[in-house]
Amino acid sequence: MTICVTIWNEGRHEKIHSEVAAIYPDRIDGAISAGLAGEGFEIQRACLDDIDQGLPTKTLDATDVLLWWGHIAHEEVGDQLVDRIQSRVLGGMGLIVLHSGHHSKIFTRLMGTNCNLSWRELPEGELERVWVVAPSHPIAEGLPPYFEVPQSEMYGEPFDIPTPDDLLFLSWFKGGEVFRSGCAFQRGRGRIFYFGPGHETFPIYHNIHVQRIIINAIRWTKQPHASGRILENWHRADPIHI
Ligand code: ZN
Repeated sequence: MTICVTIWNEGRHEKIHSEVAAIYPDRIDGAISAGLAGEGFEIQRACLDDIDQGLPTKTLDATDVLLWWGHIAHEEVGDQLVDRIQSRVLGGMGLIVLHSGHHSKIFTRLMGTNCNLSWRELPEGELERVWVVAPSHPIAEGLPPYFEVPQSEMYGEPFDIPTPDDLLFLSWFKGGEVFRSGCAFQRGRGRIFYFGPGHETFPIYHNIHVQRIIINAIRWTKQPHASGRILENWHRADPIHI
């Protein structure tokens, strides 16, 4: 069955920073979308400045897996939209939160913590070595034991998230820090995957291993049996044997 993927990108850096537009001339969502080519996904692209902030009810309800990239405009995302996304995740929609989306309203709400981390941005970037620590997990399929992102932004521990249900990737940076860069969670019926690499001034979404991880994560977060329904109320149960 075709997986309906919506790639939501804040889309502001590409408008106001020429160096970002040079690396991602078709925006970050365009680069992510290009990396998914040939996988059979039905892909929609959405931006914060689109109508209904890119996610009208019809689009969100038809989405099996939502990808989220945001950074400088988290606060502009409407609380009602966050409510709707949370409800869809609890009902079984997959959610993949990328890079600086760790501070998005939807991620912090679903985690219940502030999701703070330590960070360092060098103009020339910094080597990130991404170790696969759960090689048998479906999201790690087809990956080498580790791969390197030559230019990355350092995201380091402590990362104030709840203990992940699955830790998939652990990054080491040339400056010495480590970071839980691939974390999987379940909330309600929905699967959530957070992936760290993806800074806007480096060409990280052109990296084939990063693209493979996103492809695998889409397949994994798509729940095969999710009904899309959540329990709206307490359920008074009668005894089964009477
Ligand atoms: Zn960044």
